[in-house]
Amino acid sequence: MEGQQVNQLKECEKHPSIFYSIKEERDIFMKLQKQMPRRFTLALTALALAASFSVSAENQTQYLQTTAYRGQVLHFVDDPAASQNPYEYFEDGVLLVGADGKVKAVGPAATILANNQQVNVVDYSGKLIMPGFIDSHIHYPQTEMIGSFGQQLLQWLETYTFPTEKQFADKTYAKKIAKVFLNELARNGTTTALVFGTVHPQSVDALFEEAATHNMRLIAGKVMMDRNAPAYLLDTPQTSYTDSKALIQRWHNKGRALYAVTPRFAPTSTPEQLTQAARLLQEFPGVYMHTHLSENKGEISWVQALFPESSGYLDVYNRYGLSGKHSVYAHGVHLRDDEFASLAQTESAVAFCPTSNLFLGSGLFDLQKAEQYHVKVGLGTDVGGGTSFSALQTMNEAYKVIQMHKAFTDQPETRLPLTSLKAYYLATLGAARALDLDNKIGSFKTGNEADFIVVNPNATDLLRLRMSRATDVADKLFALQTLGDDRAVEKTYVMGKRWYVTDDSGSGNDGYNNNYSQN
Ligand SMILES: [Zn+2]
Repeated sequence: MEGQQVNQLKECEKHPSIFYSIKEERDIFMKLQKQMPRRFTLALTALALAASFSVSAENQTQYLQTTAYRGQVLHFVDDPAASQNPYEYFEDGVLLVGADGKVKAVGPAATILANNQQVNVVDYSGKLIMPGFIDSHIHYPQTEMIGSFGQQLLQWLETYTFPTEKQFADKTYAKKIAKVFLNELARNGTTTALVFGTVHPQSVDALFEEAATHNMRLIAGKVMMDRNAPAYLLDTPQTSYTDSKALIQRWHNKGRALYAVTPRFAPTSTPEQLTQAARLLQEFPGVYMHTHLSENKGEISWVQALFPESSGYLDVYNRYGLSGKHSVYAHGVHLRDDEFASLAQTESAVAFCPTSNLFLGSGLFDLQKAEQYHVKVGLGTDVGGGTSFSALQTMNEAYKVIQMHKAFTDQPETRLPLTSLKAYYLATLGAARALDLDNKIGSFKTGNEADFIVVNPNATDLLRLRMSRATDVADKLFALQTLGDDRAVEKTYVMGKRWYVTDDSGSGNDGYNNNYSQN
């Protein structure tokens, strides 16, 4: 380490705006200036000013130099159910992020810093640095109706969801909620999500526009729904096609945005509309397909009545050509064995949404069976049916769902608990694989986009007490998922840039915002 020109930067927390990052970068230049011959100073100053200007002009997409984030670094390299060495953990580790916002290296601090002497070091000692969480299924328009009482799926849609979604015809309103929604994701350390809009195309424009201001990798789509909902929320097969097509052309692969063709679920789409959904998938290879599947027993009976020719719920989607490598089905709580086999065969994925499945009384997803059939699974919050934006709290409830399977089987000895390693895998690399994005996000593989979070394992008194007894990494992670939530997520970075959660949500309260914390 001798002779190393490392700038030890203490992150200043007193500038809750993107302009802080400009200030931070100017500070780096000032420190560099002191170490350099005088003849370079002028050029460097000019470069610093130009770079600062481009940061503000291009919204944080320009970077000045490689940065080493030092702390306890954890990420997954494989499925804990399939590998003896599914993760890498470095007690004193470094995540090295390049000037382009991508991962350059990950490993022990001593090794990485010795090999990279001209880097900034941001010291997060005592904190856990891990990939940002990926939410495989969530509805942004339902943000405001989270925690609504006492209904199961079909009544819940009628009572709460449809009247709420009506408001998103107004794009100004949609923008307001999109801001709140993205703030909540960032506050909870979620850096990518697969998101339902409403039937209104402007709801999706509003969300993508907001996500673009953060350079966030987000997948979203306009709901397609042409029957069995209030008239004010219905489109037609033709308008759902043309509106979705225009959105795909406007947003898919624009920056980090990706589009998902989004029929709400089989009961609210006519056969003609499902045909149009398949047409979009054929015309635009690479777009996603996002819908609901086998969430609730009443829903399954209804699907069978609406599509009597089908052999089951999944068969409806299969018949219309909607399954495939970019298809994500939320829930799958009541899937039959042949349906699990079919999902594996078509390489479709399932979003496991435990807080929603418990809250709406839908049932218990069989993760162990999904594993047996090699079905790709990601973790989803399903807000507003789900009760938390927090991936940690979602893991907490996932653990309990799997515990309950033991109580309802004749062979409890065959039922295994959900390990913390598997839970964190499902919220990071597993979800990235489910979304076919593991070459971009979900782990600290070299070249991946540097979406990561800084977690404080001692964020509360109770966590601190429990952590003092933690026996190993898995135990520490388990305590964190059981007792942790947004309070434990200290910082969120997207493409190597800090995301400062703002208070323009209209809540008027940023007092509980950990992203302002002075640690
Ligand atoms: Zn849902």
